[in-house]
Amino acid sequence: MCAKQTIGGKSECSFCNFATLKSQKSMEKKILYIDMDNVLVNFQSGIDKLDEKTSAEYKDHLDDVPGIFALMDPMKGAVEAVHRLSEKYDLYILSTAPWNNPTAWCDKLNWVKKHFGGDKDSPFYKRIILSHHKNLCRGDYLIDDRPHKCGVEDFKGKVLHFGPDRKYKDWDSVVEYLMKK
Ligand SMILES: [Mg+2]
Repeated sequence: MCAKQTIGGKSECSFCNFATLKSQKSMEKKILYIDMDNVLVNFQSGIDKLDEKTSAEYKDHLDDVPGIFALMDPMKGAVEAVHRLSEKYDLYILSTAPWNNPTAWCDKLNWVKKHFGGDKDSPFYKRIILSHHKNLCRGDYLIDDRPHKCGVEDFKGKVLHFGPDRKYKDWDSVVEYLMKK
C-alpha cells in the first residue's frame, strides 16, 4: 500500500491515482457496433415477401422499395447473440439507410424496437446510428458484411467481416470470438 498521505480521500501519489484510473477503465465495457443489413437483418427475407409487380418495378434497386425493411426477419441466431454480447459490450447499431428510400430510416428504428424492445431494457435503447460514414464512429469493434463500403475500410477499431464467405460466417462464430476477448 502507498505510504503517501491522502487528503480528502484522494491519494497524493500519482502512481496510485493512475492505478485507480486504470482499474476503472478496465471495468468499462468495450464499444461494439453492429451493422443491420445481412448482419442483424436477413435482407433476402424481405425480398421474398414482395409481390411480383413490385419486384419487377424495383428489380435493380430493391432497397428502394417503400416499406421493404419492415418485412425483414432477423438473421439466424442474431437476437440471442445480441443479448449475450450485451453482457460484456456496449452495443450500438451502426447501419446505412438508402438515400432514396425515406421509409427505410423509419422502418429500421421500428425493426429494432420490434425485435429488441423499445424501452430502457433494450440493448439498443437510443443506440441507433444511421450513417454513410462509419469511419467517424469511435469504438473497439464493428461487425459488418461490407468491408469496403461507407467508411468501414477506415474504421479505427477491429472490423469483424460477417457473412457466409467471410471470416465470421455466422453469429455463433462472432459470439465465440468476442466472448473470449
Ligand atoms: Mg450490411
